[in-house]
Amino acid sequence: MPKYVYKCDQCEEHFEVYHGMSENQEGCIYCRALSPHRVPQMPFLKLRETSKGGKVGDETKAAIEANRAVLEEAKKQRKKEFYDDN
Ligand SMILES: [Zn+2]
Repeated sequence: MPKYVYKCDQCEEHFEVYHGMSENQEGCIYCRALSPHRVPQMPFLKLRETSKGGKVGDETKAAIEANRAVLEEAKKQRKKEFYDDN
């Protein structure tokens, strides 16, 4: 069942309700005032957060990959030197 967020004008409480798409929450779960209004979920905000986070994550990942490549290269180099010495 989808989750909906409601805000009550009476007591100004927010609450989450699970109900079917065609149903409506009829009263505030706190003060039982009628017709709390559904707060529209803002997927674009979440998307922006996600994409921002994703970007940072990608940059971090790229940095880690770059570091790893440098380390690998250094390791190879050391190994090569080691074998060259022998
Ligand atoms: Zn209320």
